[in-house]
Order: sequence, then C-alpha cells, then structure tokens
Amino acid sequence: MDVYFYNTLTRAKDKFEPLSPTEVKMYTCGPTVYRYVHIGNLRTWLMADLVRRVLEFNGYTVTQIMNITDVGHMAEDDSLTVTPGEDKVLSAAAAEKKTPAEIAAFYTADFLESLAAMNIQPAQRYPKATEHIPQMLALIEELERKGLAYEKQGAVFYDVSEFPAYGRLSGHAPEDLRAGINRVEIDETKNDPNDFLLWRTAGEHRTVKWDSKWGPGFPGWHIECSAMAMHYLGPQLDIHTGGEDLVFPHHENEIAQSEGATGKPFVRLWMHGAHLLAEGRKMSRSVGNVLRLKDLQAEGIHPLAFRLLCLGIDYRGHMNVTWDSLRAAQGSLERLRRYAVDWSADTRLTDVSHEPALAAYRRKFHALINDDLRFPQVMPLVWDMAKSDLPPAAKAGLLLGWDRVLGLGLGEMVAAPVEALVPIERALLDERAAARAAKDWATADRLRDQLAGLGIAVTDGKDGQTWSRK
Ligand SMILES: [Zn+2]
Repeated sequence: MDVYFYNTLTRAKDKFEPLSPTEVKMYTCGPTVYRYVHIGNLRTWLMADLVRRVLEFNGYTVTQIMNITDVGHMAEDDSLTVTPGEDKVLSAAAAEKKTPAEIAAFYTADFLESLAAMNIQPAQRYPKATEHIPQMLALIEELERKGLAYEKQGAVFYDVSEFPAYGRLSGHAPEDLRAGINRVEIDETKNDPNDFLLWRTAGEHRTVKWDSKWGPGFPGWHIECSAMAMHYLGPQLDIHTGGEDLVFPHHENEIAQSEGATGKPFVRLWMHGAHLLAEGRKMSRSVGNVLRLKDLQAEGIHPLAFRLLCLGIDYRGHMNVTWDSLRAAQGSLERLRRYAVDWSADTRLTDVSHEPALAAYRRKFHALINDDLRFPQVMPLVWDMAKSDLPPAAKAGLLLGWDRVLGLGLGEMVAAPVEALVPIERALLDERAAARAAKDWATADRLRDQLAGLGIAVTDGKDGQTWSRK
C-alpha cells in the first residue's frame, strides 16, 4: 500500500518514494541542550516517531539521525535565563555556574529520558555539534570555493544572492525576508541582511572555540545540521523533520548550504509539526506555562497519556493542551490497558468466520496511517473495534498489532506465557495468514522476518503456517 505524507516543499501530499526502495534516510532536528525539554518539543519529536513507525509498519528500514546542538545556537528572546544574542548553552552554563559540557550532558540526559518515557524510538545516532567541527569547516570551505560564502572580519557568511532557490521551502522571496530579519543578526557586518553566519568569530572571553583558516571561532547553528546530516546519511536524504518554527530560517538555510555545496537536491520530503498551546497560549518561559512530563506525572498523567492525546490531533494543526484533556486521555489510556490485558486472557483461536471483519479493520487502519498520519481518525477506529462483536482474542491481536505504530506500550501490560504466543506474536501470525490468503507474498515475507526477530520460526505447509520458538 502506498504511503503519502504532506511535503512542506511541494505544499502537497506526496506519494512517498525513497531514493532506495527499502532503506529510508531520515534526519530529525534535535534539541539545543541548555534547558529541559517541554511537552511542545516532545510533540514534534513524536511526529517524527510516527513517521518512522508508519514506514517500518510498511516494511521499510529507517535510519534516523538526530543532532544534539551543544554550541552555536544563539538566543533570541525565548528564555528568561539566557541573554539575547548569546550562545544558549554558554549562557546557561554561566547562569547555572557549570561548564558548557556539564550543561550539555545534563540536558541531553533529560532529553533522552523524555523520549524514552514517550515511547519515541531512539534514533540510530545522536551526533553532537562539538564533535563534528571538522565536517562543518570542510563544508564551509567548500561553499567558499564555490563562491557561495565570504569572510568578513573573521566571520564567514553565506551569500544568499548566489543561491537562486533561496526561499523555496518557506515561500518567501529574499526581498520580503529583508523586512523580517532576526534582530540578533542585524549588527553583523554582512553584505545583505539575508546572508547568514556559517562561522562566527570567537570573542576574547569565549572559552568554547576552534581554530580555523579564518581565525578562532565557532560554527553557526544551521551549518551543524547540514554537516551532520550529510556526514551520516550522505548528500541526499529522504525525510527531514522539525517543528514549524524551523522552516525559516533554519531549514531554508540547510537547503542553501547543502545544495550549494553538493549541487544535488538535499531532501525529498520536508515534514513540520505544528506548535502546541497550553491553555490557549504558546508555551514560553515568559508566560510561565511551560509544561514538562514531570509536571504531568505530578498530576497523575502518564507520559503515554500525553502521547495518546497527541494522536487525537492532526500533527499539522495547533494543539491546545488543557488539564481536562490530559485527564481524559489518562482515562482512555487506562481503558486501553485494561482491554489489552482482558482480551489477551482469551486463548481461543479466532474463528475463520471473523476473518472478513478482521481484514476490514486491518485495511482501514493501514489506509489511515498511510494517508499522512491520520491518527485522529485511527483512534475512533480503535474504539469502534473495541465495541464490535469480534471475540476478545481477535481484538487483542488487532490492538497489539496496531500498537506497534501507536506506541502506547500496551503489549507490555500483558504477561508472556511460556508455551503460548504473546499477543504481538499472534497478531503478526494472524496478519501473515491474511497476507498469504491474499497472495501478498512480499508482506508475508516481511512478517516472517519480523517474527524471526521475535524468536518465532514460521513454516508454511499444506494446512497453513505453523510456528515454533527458536
Ligand atoms: Zn536542525
């Protein structure tokens, strides 16, 4: 079944066609590690997780890279503790009387713990900016060689006028952009207000700096993502994700840097998640409505209840989180957990007469998730299935199978019997039997591999498939 995602670049729902038929290269903008992550940040990373789970459900292998920005991200005015115009990590280090490395390590741990609590699958790698300075310098030098970058007083700027496609992602022409230039950069000595910093000059007092042919300095935030994405995934990626606030200038600049250097299209599919509002207002420290998972947990809300709440809202629409909605999601999560346990207690085999109804549910679920993550329509399907007259074992199979994508940890609620199948295994076997009946051999093979990964060997015989534990 084809997969469709909304592409910020084409402004349309595009059929997903990766560069390689089976392997997907995905880059997700990670955190700047100078403060705790809040649930708005987590909603964006959840979107990336859902993209990846949907692709894996469809049989793709996904290599996902998420950066850790531990230098070079300059503050605007989004924090109470960090001075505008200064490096966020260094400012936080000064405020907390710690070293920049200590600050970065502390908040990286918080970030990774938060992802795990939300059942967001870990990326294969979390490269740190400070460990990839040579790759960034090489990229900047390449841009300079190609006439796309120029040096002024030890700083290096990208010459936007030399990159005609600039503005294509965000939909702004350079002329329009001049009006809305980030005031932090306004004093810089650049040729054009649209030009942006690739390499910054380190001031006398700055301790975190590196040597370069332009003198001691440190990288701009945008070059970090271009350099690390291409270092780990190559010059061309299938998917790049981030929050909607990153479309401009961060992702626009990534395109200019990467395509300017390689001459190849950088990313096929750009996906952006919309912001989260708390009680109707954008989450910010100055408003004082920033919520962390810990704040939710203190009120008896499980992180996965927040995940469930997010699943009910279109990822491209703004989500307003309220305590009432969180409490309702907590109730729904508890209900799903009870279902998973109760239904799994039914060990009878599913009667073949239920197969058409099961197949219809599987088809609907698959069609919804493949249509640009229509999880808001998936949740009603789950409740509808729960109310149906399917036998409990069949419901358990569906629910646990779907939870591979929903990621609500429902399978963990169910104790694994030694001699029998756990629900996820039964779900995969049921699904494989259905695929064989439909002569969908590719799906049947993929499910056999997945079962093998769980330690279940499947043999096909005259009377259907049999299994044994390896
Ligand atoms: Zn980035």
